[in-house]
Amino acid sequence: MTIHFSCTMCGRCCHGLRLPIGVDEAMAWLRDGGNVQLFCEAIPWPEEPPADNHLAWYKRRRSFAATSGQLPVRVIVSLMAVFEGACPNLQPDMRCGIYERRPRACRVYPAEVNPFFALDRDTKLCPPEAWQTQDVLQGEDGEWKDAEVAQSIAGMREADARDAAVKAELCAVLGISSSGLSNEGVVVHAPDRARLLSALEEATTAGGDVAMTAWHVVSHRRATLELLQSAGTSPLPASALQGTEASFMGFVAGDAD
Ligand code: SF4
Ligand code: SF4
Repeated sequence: MTIHFSCTMCGRCCHGLRLPIGVDEAMAWLRDGGNVQLFCEAIPWPEEPPADNHLAWYKRRRSFAATSGQLPVRVIVSLMAVFEGACPNLQPDMRCGIYERRPRACRVYPAEVNPFFALDRDTKLCPPEAWQTQDVLQGEDGEWKDAEVAQSIAGMREADARDAAVKAELCAVLGISSSGLSNEGVVVHAPDRARLLSALEEATTAGGDVAMTAWHVVSHRRATLELLQSAGTSPLPASALQGTEASFMGFVAGDAD
């Protein structure tokens, strides 16, 4: 299905966001005085997937190898620019104050970076009239027809792959080693701005050859904790994060708090 779209500049997508950003963008965001958090999730990875499992290879490219107890895992760390209410860069007239250097994710919205997600207009913040235009965002062939969107999606995928080793180093520098289980939840780490910026600067100059680290997978579900335990990991209940700088964000209902 062809998807038509033209931004109305309503500004809705610039409010109350968690904006996925690359390492380069995170350093710029922090230097501008913004806040960035790390969303960590682990995928059990007992063996490499077959070559035709394109989804698994997509996840592999944006993750780094680690262990949790006896279990090999791959860890995805998403850097998120976070803000309540209006983005600090949003101007009163709903224009972006850093338009020329706004993050790639801002250029992509409402398109999808993940090639395995179909664009669902019902989940987007854009008003109905934004979809009632002759401008084509995505063609019948699934290709993104807007040149800037296509280029920014490619840029985000490249950054995801390029940044994976830096994020491994970053977590080592920050002493971060707890994650959620992919598709169930993430552990959100919120180091203070100066510490995170310093760690990013160190990680980007470190050479990217950090030793594989041991991670704890955190869950808020009893069944998951038991499963992880039986798989030879040393899981933590979400309640174990209380009193730390980290918190658990579940995507499904939990019963182990
Ligand atoms: S950086 Fe600009 S485009 Fe991105 S959320 Fe903020 S105001 Fe909106
Ligand atoms: S919500 Fe959609 S229409 Fe509104 S500013 Fe964002 S991209 Fe444009």
